[in-house]
Amino acid sequence: MNADLHCHSVVSDGTLTPEALAQRAAANGVELWALTDHDEIGGQDRAAAAAHANGMRYLTGTEISVTFIGKTVHIVGLGFDAHDERMGRGLLQTRGGRGDRAKEMSNQLEKVGIHGAYAGALRYAGNPELVSRTHFARFLVETGVCRETNEVFRKYLTEGKPGFVEHHWASLKDAVHWITQAKGVAVIAHPARYRFSANEEFALFTEFKSHGGQGVEVVTGSHTPAEYLTYADMAREFGLAASRGSDFHSPDESHTDLGTLPPLPLGLTPVWEMLSTRIQ
Ligand code: AMP
Ligand code: MN
Ligand code: MN
Ligand code: MN
Repeated sequence: MNADLHCHSVVSDGTLTPEALAQRAAANGVELWALTDHDEIGGQDRAAAAAHANGMRYLTGTEISVTFIGKTVHIVGLGFDAHDERMGRGLLQTRGGRGDRAKEMSNQLEKVGIHGAYAGALRYAGNPELVSRTHFARFLVETGVCRETNEVFRKYLTEGKPGFVEHHWASLKDAVHWITQAKGVAVIAHPARYRFSANEEFALFTEFKSHGGQGVEVVTGSHTPAEYLTYADMAREFGLAASRGSDFHSPDESHTDLGTLPPLPLGLTPVWEMLSTRIQ
């Protein structure tokens, strides 16, 4: 089964529409697809329709920003009811702080001589409620401050750098509950990206499970092949189902295209098996 259960459209920080993503996924052989915009489900109905128009099956998706022990962690939700009110309110609240955060980022960048970054980032944001660091990165590349978005993150947008603003996202408990109460499955996104110590990672997995979380991304565009194996072991150790997703954002920026990752390592429960009744 070629399942790709993690990617972004213009509804968050991707550059393609849900329709263009669906076409690209299908052309790359994806059979089961989920669009997982950051803190947003505004693209879900379009994505499901486009999946069906391109002969794919569909799972609803989102990627919720969470603050856990002072660090940002992403929790993917799959197969939930996209019209669930509590979930809708939770996501609205989570993205609510993004406007002020973006203005503050812009003020800080101003101090290092980068002007007009808020207005610049907004021009790249397809959804004004969802201004993200990615949109700032695209603006800084456009204006020639950096050559590519990765460099912008390294020099300006990560902890300790001039444009980084500490932000408080949803709690792990709330994010997992919003998803599970809406009949979905919660999945820890790209765990290797957090650079947690062994103790911190153990705490994340343990608390996530205690709140009702059931899955972890094992094969993702954010992991190396060695990390697939590390998190396959973690999935087994914690009794979590395994997910697979490219985290595709843009043909110009993403190194992993939709549907092109290797299959899950053997001996894992694929998350889509737990979600068979939620597939559209
Ligand atoms: P935000 O939710 O506004 O903090 O933005 C987070 C997004 O920034 C992630 O979902 C990625 O798309 C992007 N991102 C984070 N780190 C990097 C990086 N080092 N290079 C490129 N994009 C990144
Ligand atoms: Mn992103
Ligand atoms: Mn993420
Ligand atoms: Mn993502």
